[in-house]
Amino acid sequence: MKTSEVDDEIYSDQIKEEQNEEEFKISFDNQSIIGSVILNRVKQCPKEFCGKNNVKIAQDNWIVCNACNTQYCFLCGNTLKGAQHFDKRCVRYTPVK
Ligand SMILES: [Zn+2]
Ligand SMILES: [Zn+2]
Repeated sequence: MKTSEVDDEIYSDQIKEEQNEEEFKISFDNQSIIGSVILNRVKQCPKEFCGKNNVKIAQDNWIVCNACNTQYCFLCGNTLKGAQHFDKRCVRYTPVK
């Protein structure tokens, strides 16, 4: 009789631990989904000593750095001198994945 009580206690402890692990896993998965959505919108400024991460707005691949005002392309990461870049090399508007 006494042994089976001890067994029950151990068993219920194990269940608690498993539930905690499951909750942790779910919240971790959610974070990584949000993280990858942000990563698909962010491109680092190509200017030396800047490196600020700027966010793509809507579908526009023409990024202007918040810190140094450098214009650059979200797709290829090169600096721009105007919209003609998007006539030649890259498409200006693409949806965020
Ligand atoms: Zn910059
Ligand atoms: Zn480009």
